[in-house]
Amino acid sequence: MKTYEDLIEFCNNNINKMRFSNSSDNFALDTCINYLLNIKFKKWNYQEIIFIISYLTYQFMQKYNFTDFSVKFGESQEDLNQKSILKDIQGAHTSLYSFKDKKVSHEFNYGFRVFKNIMSSENCILFNDIHTIYHELAHAYQQELIRRDESFIDYTFEQYLLAIEDNYIQDLINHNKKGYQEFIEKYYSTLYSELDAEKRAIEYSIEFFELHKPKFLLEEDVRDYVYKLKNNYIGKGKLLEPNKSNILYENNLIEKMLLENKILLKYYPILSVAFDDTGLKKSKEKLLDEKAKKIQINKNNEKEINVLYDSIININRLDEYI
Ligand SMILES: [Zn+2]
Repeated sequence: MKTYEDLIEFCNNNINKMRFSNSSDNFALDTCINYLLNIKFKKWNYQEIIFIISYLTYQFMQKYNFTDFSVKFGESQEDLNQKSILKDIQGAHTSLYSFKDKKVSHEFNYGFRVFKNIMSSENCILFNDIHTIYHELAHAYQQELIRRDESFIDYTFEQYLLAIEDNYIQDLINHNKKGYQEFIEKYYSTLYSELDAEKRAIEYSIEFFELHKPKFLLEEDVRDYVYKLKNNYIGKGKLLEPNKSNILYENNLIEKMLLENKILLKYYPILSVAFDDTGLKKSKEKLLDEKAKKIQINKNNEKEINVLYDSIININRLDEYI
C-alpha cells in the first residue's frame, strides 16, 4: 500500500470489519481522516466523501456498541419513501430503524444531496454537514435509549419524553397514516426528538472538531457557527419545558394514550416508571414511594430521578382537571 488513496480505498472496502478499538485499524482510519481534513481539505472525490461519512458513522456506532446497522449511499428519495417508517423530512439523508426482540437495527442512507453539499460548501459549512450526519446518528442513539431492555434505562425525564413521543408517532404510523403526515408536517421542527437530536449533534460535532482540529477550518468560523446553532436550539428548546405549551400537552398526547390504553410498555421500558403492567397510570402515592426507593439505590442520580418522577406526577395531575 503506497498512497493515501490506496489506504482510503482499503478502508472503504473493509470498514465493516475494522474496529476503532483495535490500534492498527484505528491508526489506518485516523491517518485517512486526518489526511482528508488537513492535507486534501475540500478537494474530495466521491470515494473520499464516502470515507468521511463512514468514518463518522462507524466510529459513533462502535463507541456505543450498537452493532446492528448498515450504511448505504445514494438511494433515491422515492426508494426511501417506499420503505420509510420514520424519515427525516428535511434531512438530506435518512435513518430508518426496525425492531425485533428488543433489538434495534438501523439503516443509514446518505443521498446525493449530502455529497453535493459536502463538495461545494464553504469551509465553515463543513461543520453543518458533519452536524447533519451526527443528527441522524443521534436519532439512532435515541432509539437505542428508549427501546433497549431495562438495563439501558437511565431514568431521565428526557428519555421518558422521547418514549412517549415515539409511542404516539408509531401509533399514528400503524393506525392513521394520513394523521401521521399531517402531524409531522405541522410539528416536525418542534418535535422533542428533533430538538434532542439537534442538541446531541452539536455536542458530537464539537467533540469531533476538537479532536481532529482541521487546520483550514477557522476557529472563529466554527465558534460563530456553533453559537448560531445553539441559539437556534435554545429558542426552540423552550418548548421542551414540561408545561402546557409543550406540544405533548397541546395535543393531549398523554391523555389520549391513557384513554385508549395503547401504551406498549414492553417496547418502551422507561414508560414502566409511570404505568403499571396493565397500562394504567400509577397513583401519586405509588410514584412517590417508588421515587424514594429509586433514589436510595441510585444516590448519584438523585436530581434526574426527582425531575423524572415529579414531572410525571405533574403530568398525571394535569389530566385530573380535564
Ligand atoms: Zn431529525
